[in-house]
Amino acid sequence: MVIRVTVFGENVHEQKNRIVAGIYPEGMHSTIAQAINADPDCRAVTVTLQEPEHGLTAEKLAQTDVLIWWGHAAHGDVQDHVVDRVCDAVWSGMGMIFLHSAHFSKPFKRLMGTPCNLTWREAGERERLWLTSRNHPIAAGLPDHFELENEEMYGEPFGVPEPMETVFVSWFQGGEVFRSGLTYKRGAGNVFYFRPGHETYPTFHDANVQRVIRNAVKWAYNPAARIADPNDAPNVPVETAPERIEERGPRLHHDGEQGFR
Ligand code: ZN
Repeated sequence: MVIRVTVFGENVHEQKNRIVAGIYPEGMHSTIAQAINADPDCRAVTVTLQEPEHGLTAEKLAQTDVLIWWGHAAHGDVQDHVVDRVCDAVWSGMGMIFLHSAHFSKPFKRLMGTPCNLTWREAGERERLWLTSRNHPIAAGLPDHFELENEEMYGEPFGVPEPMETVFVSWFQGGEVFRSGLTYKRGAGNVFYFRPGHETYPTFHDANVQRVIRNAVKWAYNPAARIADPNDAPNVPVETAPERIEERGPRLHHDGEQGFR
């Protein structure tokens, strides 16, 4: 059994910015996929914003156990019908991992239902990530804390719902702190947000960051069959109620009606 991973890369700054292109000559998505493919239990492929349907057709999502999302400059260019499809896949049981500036991506905001805002500063600060849940599978094999010498600062308050579990918190050289590894369940799907990954720094080449992503893929993987239609809202007629009942009182809906959506 191999976990099928798809890495979505926005692929904008790799094409436009010399520094980013120097750190990630094949794109950040390729570096992330290569890190995942170091694990023989996983097989990662990449898709980019520029492909038709951003590479995220219904067929592709049906063949994806865990989707990873990195975006920053072009969140608004992601087509809404693709966002609908991605969220349906998560609600149906697909795992999903959002990296760094994906906090403002359309699918993350939809799945969280909150502004997902934060404070930020681009000053190459040291980031120290502390494990807050030592036996969590996403933290497996990691030291109690590790550092990234240069990162963008993200600070609290982070405008997300309270997570199931906080796996990491970050401290920044300038003094701010941030909940940098958060788990959620959305429908049948496991969702993980991981903070590091600003494109002008070599974060996705870092061994600890790569380990977190590999661990998160395994945590997010849900082996159960996908739910066919996670938006299904069937009417249950009186005759098929689990217990025998007599209909009483007035009613608005007619038999066999779809109901309001
Ligand atoms: Zn950034």
